Amino acid sequence: MQSQKNNNWWFEVRSLWQDTESQLVFDLEGKFDFETADNIKTLTPLDGRVFFSRVDEENVLVRIKDLKIKVELECQKCLEKFVQEVYFEELSEVFYAWSENSDDWSWDWESGGVDLAEFLREKILLSLPAIPVCRRDCKGICAQCGANLNKQKCKCVSQKKSHQPSPFDGLEKLFTREK
Ligand SMILES: [Zn+2]
Ligand SMILES: [Zn+2]
Repeated sequence: MQSQKNNNWWFEVRSLWQDTESQLVFDLEGKFDFETADNIKTLTPLDGRVFFSRVDEENVLVRIKDLKIKVELECQKCLEKFVQEVYFEELSEVFYAWSENSDDWSWDWESGGVDLAEFLREKILLSLPAIPVCRRDCKGICAQCGANLNKQKCKCVSQKKSHQPSPFDGLEKLFTREK
């Protein structure tokens, strides 16, 4: 498909079969769009290196090294945006020319190209936290007034601390008296 060749993540690998070359190496770089994941904004271009080599008569081994990208996520506790760094030291996967298994990654024998866009998208998305939190000790927002408790203390908190009558007050007195 012609359109696929226009994306940054499409690589011609036919020469692995035509020449005696045993490996092809390319830089991975460019703006990466998460087409189907609406809430993910990329803050840096994707960066890394990709190595292609033949596994056998028709399949390609893809190895990606030092894959880096920064994305913006929304903290589920305080609702502020924060920067999440994604880094893979190495990813490796076989791309098959013909495979019956829909879980396998495939490459296009006809055009001689490997399109890594979907592969990269999936690896990056799966590496992101299911529940993004800006930092371990994020205090979140106040359920009553909506203040970001990382930035300010609201009055609701101090009200909570002030003594309110509770059904256990009587019990407490009971125990103190027995001592
Ligand atoms: Zn937060
Ligand atoms: Zn509050």
